[in-house]
Amino acid sequence: MNDITGKCLCGSVTITVSDPVGWLGACHCRMCQRWSGGLWAGFPADPDTVRITGPVQSYPSSKLADRAFCQTCGTQLWMRDRSDDAPYDLMPGIFDGAQDWPLKSEIYVDQALHAFSLSGVHKRASSAEYREKNPEVNQITDGARQND
Ligand SMILES: [Zn+2]
Ligand SMILES: [Zn+2]
Repeated sequence: MNDITGKCLCGSVTITVSDPVGWLGACHCRMCQRWSGGLWAGFPADPDTVRITGPVQSYPSSKLADRAFCQTCGTQLWMRDRSDDAPYDLMPGIFDGAQDWPLKSEIYVDQALHAFSLSGVHKRASSAEYREKNPEVNQITDGARQND
């Protein structure tokens, strides 16, 4: 089995993923920009392939999803829809093994900070295109709305 293990900045949270997908997706929505500080990228992993140890805290960033971080050092760990079988969207930067993974998709490209126009051949979707395919995100009405 192909496992990768990552850790937060202070080392108190450890995450191991079995057979990771080996690619990343980036999101430029306003929530991801605020949370990441600029550029957000993650990769999906089924819950039964993820093992987590350490002090994790979750923030309910919208009606749909939580964003998790290390209680001690604040490192971003994942974003995940609030249901038991929802996949994790894990932060690649905490895993040494993710360094050479390609970017597969990029969403909310029309909202990207201009400094982060990502080159290469990958799927791109504007906020309107993404919302049309994922109408559930239109329910998000919290203080950090994706379309503000
Ligand atoms: Zn930490
Ligand atoms: Zn986003």
